[in-house]
Amino acid sequence: MPEAIEIYDDRMSALLRPGASLQELANGAVHSEGPVYFHEDDSIVWSDAHGNRLLHWSPTNNVSVLRDPSDYQSGNYRDLEGRLVGCSSGLRAIIRREHDGEWKVLVDRYQGKRLNSPNDLVVKSDNTIWFTDPPYGITEPNQGYGGEQEQPGSYVYRFDPASGEIYPVVTDMVRPNGLAFSPDESLLYVSDTAGFNIPGGPHHLRVYEVGDVGVARRRHRHLKNGRVFCVIDPGQPDGLRVDEHGNIFTSSQDSVQVYAPDGTQLGKILVPEISTNLTFGGKEGDRLLITAGHSLYVIDLNTRGVRL
Ligand code: MG
Repeated sequence: MPEAIEIYDDRMSALLRPGASLQELANGAVHSEGPVYFHEDDSIVWSDAHGNRLLHWSPTNNVSVLRDPSDYQSGNYRDLEGRLVGCSSGLRAIIRREHDGEWKVLVDRYQGKRLNSPNDLVVKSDNTIWFTDPPYGITEPNQGYGGEQEQPGSYVYRFDPASGEIYPVVTDMVRPNGLAFSPDESLLYVSDTAGFNIPGGPHHLRVYEVGDVGVARRRHRHLKNGRVFCVIDPGQPDGLRVDEHGNIFTSSQDSVQVYAPDGTQLGKILVPEISTNLTFGGKEGDRLLITAGHSLYVIDLNTRGVRL
């Protein structure tokens, strides 16, 4: 097995493609984030989050700039119609690229007050958008346009683009950042990156039971039984994804760390720059696409993402 992979449990070996190693696809970003895969042409869109651009990689054209400026777009995903949905840290909004190519603000407020600065999102199978809202676009000069924080905390929200309804589902984290559902969507994993700039702040993943929050009465909308799933060292987690078996792949300072659903750390895929986010791609969904530092990396695996 390549030296760039550390194996702590036999279950890790089963996830690896023999002979596969990490490859650099692109570099040159100030701070790569938010990879999202397009199976239609085997291309990848990702954010140069601190460079205020949206980038595009394809097997034929290599790298091009898709949007400049991008209003400090960070995490990206696709909705059930295949439209690109993004977190705009600068506009403090969730935005969507319409079929005609225009970008539209879907939501930028909760209870009449501006969101902090949405950082990352996932689209659930019912097409609702779940996103984190730490204040980095307000507090960090290279991640947004500044301004005043209007929300009392950093929450995870559920937003329904069909009805416009928005409400927080997680309110007990310090700096929620990346997030991903388990394969049956019964669990939501959320990273807390408070350790980045709050001394002694958490640097862990929490897991919550989702339940039937969509129809729950208002006072029961918060997700239940939240607990620390794993502590990430070195550094802190950021983006994460879950594979078809429920294994969790999370960014960290030195690697993409892999955890079984029972919380056992299975191994590490070492990355030469600090990884920020990841997603599954490739025609078969078995390529792990990793944004890290200035670059975009890929490694072929023997497992597939739970969703493209
Ligand atoms: Mg993030």
